[in-house]
Amino acid sequence: MEESLEKNLFMKKENGWETVDESKKEEIFKFSNGYMNFLNKAKTEREFIQETIKLARENGYKDIMEFQKLQSGDKIYFINREKSMYLAIIGTESIESGLHIIGSHVDSPRLDLKPNPLYEDTDMAYLKTHYYGGIKKYQWTTIPLSLHGVIVKSNGEKITVNIGEDDNDPIFTITDLLPHLAQEQMEKKLKNGIDGEDLNLLVGSIPYKDEKAKEKVKLNILNILNQKYGITEADFQSSELEIIPAFKARSLGFDSSMVAAYGQDDKVCAYTSLAAMMTLQNVKNTAVCILSDKEEIGSMGNTGMESHMFDFFISEILNKLEINKPNLLDKVFCFSKMLSSDVDAGYDPIYASVSDKLNAGFLGKGISLNKYTGARGKSGASDANAEYVAWIRNILERNDIKYQIAELGKVDIGGGGTIAYILANKGADVIDCGVPVLSMHAPYEVTSKFDIYSAFETYKTFWME
Ligand code: MN
Ligand code: MN
Repeated sequence: MEESLEKNLFMKKENGWETVDESKKEEIFKFSNGYMNFLNKAKTEREFIQETIKLARENGYKDIMEFQKLQSGDKIYFINREKSMYLAIIGTESIESGLHIIGSHVDSPRLDLKPNPLYEDTDMAYLKTHYYGGIKKYQWTTIPLSLHGVIVKSNGEKITVNIGEDDNDPIFTITDLLPHLAQEQMEKKLKNGIDGEDLNLLVGSIPYKDEKAKEKVKLNILNILNQKYGITEADFQSSELEIIPAFKARSLGFDSSMVAAYGQDDKVCAYTSLAAMMTLQNVKNTAVCILSDKEEIGSMGNTGMESHMFDFFISEILNKLEINKPNLLDKVFCFSKMLSSDVDAGYDPIYASVSDKLNAGFLGKGISLNKYTGARGKSGASDANAEYVAWIRNILERNDIKYQIAELGKVDIGGGGTIAYILANKGADVIDCGVPVLSMHAPYEVTSKFDIYSAFETYKTFWME
């Protein structure tokens, strides 16, 4: 008797792996291989958008600018300055009944080159950096680093750079002090161990053969760059070059149950939502996939979610459906539902003290929903309405998808935010919903393949609802 009461009343929080059979496990591993392959080609926001355009076109999506008129079933996308993108399938229901939006971000913490980065010191050449997003600086020294991005010459010619990913490429690194001489450094607080101004990338050491030249190593580097790309030192000023870990995405553990990779925040949610969208044919509500930029530094700028570019995209859909009228955009947003698909802090047993075990997201227990984020008394939180949480629970439970509802760490320990509030401010119902991650924002982040697959299933189900 009592045993069944327990079974009826207690919430189940089982390990996802214990709920899958061999064939489902194979499906999960196969999907994760696809994810890792994509990630290895799409390590920065620009590369992610490039790969997305290819994938979308293969699946019948076209630039919205190619359409005069839209109708239900049309598959469209809009590229925002090569760094952010929106995709959509026009639904069979009137768009006035709202959109079903899934929004992730494709930028990740990294080191950006300064506008005037190149200098020489003691016969060594370096590039100066300014870190992007929340990083623990000491994690970025003494690891292999690669250089990705674009250089745009003043005549408009754009050069794409990717050095350090191919096995035949050289890599770069940032040096650190040997322990033998680090007595003083080791007394410092962890956050002051490495100064931001010391995150300088070592890029060369051979002097150019010219008796009269002053900085011969710097000159040699500029000569190499000039021969390879036709650029001069001034061209760095109009470049966007990112220093990221040269690690490949790999399966992790004896059982290969996890993925270790750079930039899984938030490319794990970007990829799973994109992959889900590519499976869709007909949808009731217009399905929209947002791949945003600049989330890691506050979503500002015209490629960030705070910009009006997304409103423009939806207005353009309304125009091309030939139904636009005053206030319709507001109405569409007010009736929309959204999953803010961003990663959650996974519970780490080694650092258990920062989490409330009752309200943490665990690796291997499925997609993690954060009803709210924020910090210190939910300050700045986008708090999903109970009615909406119930609606989501209903979809997940009906489709037998494992989920957990969590919050980011213990009260007053810290906190964070996503793009959820931006769409909530427009009137949409929004909840944060993503994959739990260990070592978030580190050069190598860890996720569970079980959760990656439940994210894919969740996003697909949400759009098909
Ligand atoms: Mn994120
Ligand atoms: Mn982040």
